[in-house]
Amino acid sequence: MEKAMRNFFLFLSKNKYLTRSAKKYGLRFGAARFVAGETIEQAAAIIKELNGKGLKVTIDYLGEFVDNQKEARRMVDNCIEAIKIIGREKLDSQLSLKLTSMGMDISDDYVMSTMREIMDAANKNKVFVTIDMEDYVRCEKTLQIFKQLRREYDNIGTVIQAYLFRTSKDMEELDAYAPNLRLVKGAYKESSEVAFPNKVDVDDNYKKIIQTHLLHGHYTAVATHDDAIIEFTKQFVKEHNIPNDQFEFQMLYGIRSERQLELAQEGYTMRVYVPYGTDWYGYFMRRLAERPANVSFILKGIFKK
Ligand SMILES: Cc1cc2nc3c(=O)[nH]c(=O)nc-3n(C[C@H](O)[C@H](O)[C@H](O)COP(=O)(O)OP(=O)(O)OC[C@H]3O[C@@H](n4cnc5c(N)ncnc54)[C@H](O)[C@@H]3O)c2cc1C
Repeated sequence: MEKAMRNFFLFLSKNKYLTRSAKKYGLRFGAARFVAGETIEQAAAIIKELNGKGLKVTIDYLGEFVDNQKEARRMVDNCIEAIKIIGREKLDSQLSLKLTSMGMDISDDYVMSTMREIMDAANKNKVFVTIDMEDYVRCEKTLQIFKQLRREYDNIGTVIQAYLFRTSKDMEELDAYAPNLRLVKGAYKESSEVAFPNKVDVDDNYKKIIQTHLLHGHYTAVATHDDAIIEFTKQFVKEHNIPNDQFEFQMLYGIRSERQLELAQEGYTMRVYVPYGTDWYGYFMRRLAERPANVSFILKGIFKK
């Protein structure tokens, strides 16, 4: 049943018609629990609040299915505006983005030019940028673009998904770049030809890549809400004397907020991924796919009104 719900919401997340419709109607159906508003001003207020509680942030201007330069331009401009505001207001925030929003599906040259524009602004404002990882068909190209940009910039990282079979090999190849990586389980619907279908195998692989990346001395962001993985990481760093400034925990805005605070109070770096913008639909559907409890929360919200 849980698997069927997950597939249903992941299917809905890819619906272009619903994506477009949702943009017109503003944050609905409880999406505000997971999305920090539609404007950078609203998001900046949330970042300040989180920073005030000892939490660091990575901000994400939401956008999906960008297939024309006009839309990609709008995305790039919004990212640059966010970078400038982070710099100007001295917010403790990084930036996360998706290459499809920056024009990856338009052309290679185009996405490289938009990314260099963003990276130049980020460099100037001392903002770190993480390239989110999207679906499997875009994984290879995302890594190639990351490697090219990493040769040119220090302030860039990307994401590795534990559910993919290719992940260990990707990490070996990335090692030479001393990459700052966010490690995640993986959020998209992938075929069993490319990804572990069973959670237990994903979790095992997740632990494996956390160990490898930490032992290689690279900065590691463990992005999960899973206590078992968090406890595993805490134990592992203790046993191997890995300093607290070589890793951090990350969670999504609106999910396990209490746990985020606890980890910060225990002295760990805790970063909250804060999405904002009008294009909230796909992101919201993926959150519903992850956890049926989120769905009942949303339904309660709808029927209360
Ligand atoms: C900061 C961040 C960035 C991410 N970036 C990417 C990306 O670039 N690409 C990508 O594919 N995916 C990304 N993800 C999503 C990730 O791949 C997973 O889909 C998502 O984090 C859910 O997996 P999980 O590790 O939290 O554990 P799950 O296996 O989903 O959950 C494990 C356990 O965590 C606890 N838990 C989970 N949710 C809740 C909740 N709402 N309340 C209470 N307990 C809960 C429960 O005990 C649950 O059994 C990102 C996630 C985070 C946190």
